[in-house]
Amino acid sequence: MNEILNLDPREVWRQFVDICQVPRPSKKEGKIIKFLEDFASTHGLERHTDAAGNVLIRKPATPGMEHLQTVVLQSHMDMVCEKNSDVQHNFDTDAIVPYLDGGWVRAKGTTLGADDGIGMAAELAILASSSVKHGPIECLFTVDEETGLTGAFEMQPGFFSGKILLNLDSEDDGELFIGCAGGVDTLATFAYSTELVPADYAAVCIAVRGLLGGHSGDDINKNRGNAVKLLTRLVWEAAQRFGLRIAQIDAGNLRNAIAREGYVVGVLPQSKRDEALNCLEALRSDIVAEWSDVEPSLSIAIESSDMPAWVLDQASQRNLLNALYACPHGVMAMSRSLQGLVETSTNLASVKMLEGNRIQVTTSQRSSVDTAKVDIANMVESVFLLAGADVVHSDGYPGWAPNTDSEILRIMRDSYKQLFGEEPIVRAIHAGLECGLFLEKFPGLDMISFGPTLRGVHSPDEKIDVATTQKFWKLLLDVLTRIPKR
Ligand SMILES: [Zn+2]
Repeated sequence: MNEILNLDPREVWRQFVDICQVPRPSKKEGKIIKFLEDFASTHGLERHTDAAGNVLIRKPATPGMEHLQTVVLQSHMDMVCEKNSDVQHNFDTDAIVPYLDGGWVRAKGTTLGADDGIGMAAELAILASSSVKHGPIECLFTVDEETGLTGAFEMQPGFFSGKILLNLDSEDDGELFIGCAGGVDTLATFAYSTELVPADYAAVCIAVRGLLGGHSGDDINKNRGNAVKLLTRLVWEAAQRFGLRIAQIDAGNLRNAIAREGYVVGVLPQSKRDEALNCLEALRSDIVAEWSDVEPSLSIAIESSDMPAWVLDQASQRNLLNALYACPHGVMAMSRSLQGLVETSTNLASVKMLEGNRIQVTTSQRSSVDTAKVDIANMVESVFLLAGADVVHSDGYPGWAPNTDSEILRIMRDSYKQLFGEEPIVRAIHAGLECGLFLEKFPGLDMISFGPTLRGVHSPDEKIDVATTQKFWKLLLDVLTRIPKR
């Protein structure tokens, strides 16, 4: 532990080591809330905890800096709890044990919680300091960022007063984040009736496996194969040309993941079976060849199967297959203000058979532009309405549209350039951040997100780069002195 305490900036690592002592799994933040409240009391600082468990600690300006605008410094207090299977660790009670490994700090067989413990540590170091110069500060610590953004969702307008917010939850030195995507899920439900399998039919199973999948936001621009789409392509063809009838369908899994595998069990008329299998086999090789560059492990199996007892009625099957084939998937629009940023996308996530003769199709839409998010969700809805499905949307969450004219962006860019002699990269991400939710409740908030370099986050390989932690601290202190006057 001493090796960590001796790292620079010492005042930050000291706080980080203290934070490591406090268990803080998502949705079990009681101990860390108490720790923060005690910290505020010890330092004689005003503090508030809201109903969700979010903690706000205020620190007045240092002498001579009272004329600056209030700045909100924000991090999340929960951490992802992952460990290697051979490690004994109870995240509800045990301290995280950080150690130095070359230029990195990591933990012994567990996640380190530098996401976002390092953001918290920087805030505590400022709150505890008598030498750091700054205007009025509000340090905001949210709960449950990792498993639902609950703290940000439930925060009430007025909980903090600053109009500038620095989110300390990014993972790449040299990159400033100025936007994120909002999201909404669109669920379509088909009702079907069953029919007995007609005489003289043979059973077949078509299975798609081995796709890369990935996150439906971060990876949507990688043009990976979608198991729902590939499966539909094969089954649609076999149904149109040879009268395949579906008995079972199952593809994809999580709403926020690109579908990696799926299968259909169906029946084909005996008289057309050989021709149909030849045709499917040819289509199989075409698809594998088309995708060989991005999906080298894709495998499509077309095999005989046990005879099912019943199949979907003709009309339901036709509606389902046509809707799955027509439903958009992937990137819909690229940002016109930030090069390389996906603005709008949709993920055809899964098809599942439910009890009560229903089939549910789950899709998920994202956009940094809230009106575009509604547009793509409606577009997906319209496809399923045409096919006679019932469609509902989730409540969703708002995005944070990039503002390249932001004043805090200008300040941070100047500061980074002057301190380190390099231009930082300005980016946005195509996934949800707490910032999108803040903006909804605190309109006009000028926000930016930055942090030191972390790798392997959310896994036991999580590690934080010591040198960039020092840069992060320097940048933060410098920016605090450049905050505009009231
Ligand atoms: Zn985080």
